[in-house]
Amino acid sequence: MAKRAQTGKRHTAHQQRSCIACRARRDKAKLFRLVRDSAQAVHFDSTGRIDGRGAYVCSLACMETAQKTRRLERALRVPITHEDYSRITAAVSREYAASIQRIEESL
Ligand SMILES: [Zn+2]
Repeated sequence: MAKRAQTGKRHTAHQQRSCIACRARRDKAKLFRLVRDSAQAVHFDSTGRIDGRGAYVCSLACMETAQKTRRLERALRVPITHEDYSRITAAVSREYAASIQRIEESL
């Protein structure tokens, strides 16, 4: 008697998400998560754990595209002001710079 193969089990640690600008699918941990909190404010979520509706971008260039094309607003279903975008983009830039530095230090 052959045992029934286990199917459909996936590791949740490597969930794939799509960038809202270029649609590239990546490991969730490698994307920048933007989240709309319960007060309808949008933040960059460096921990990936803030509760709320989330959207992902893969790079600073895609963050700009998401702003220009309003894809971020559509994805999060909330209006986003220029001030919000400046704040979010600055936070993503800082995280991006920090991640580059971590890679260089590990080389
Ligand atoms: Zn992208």
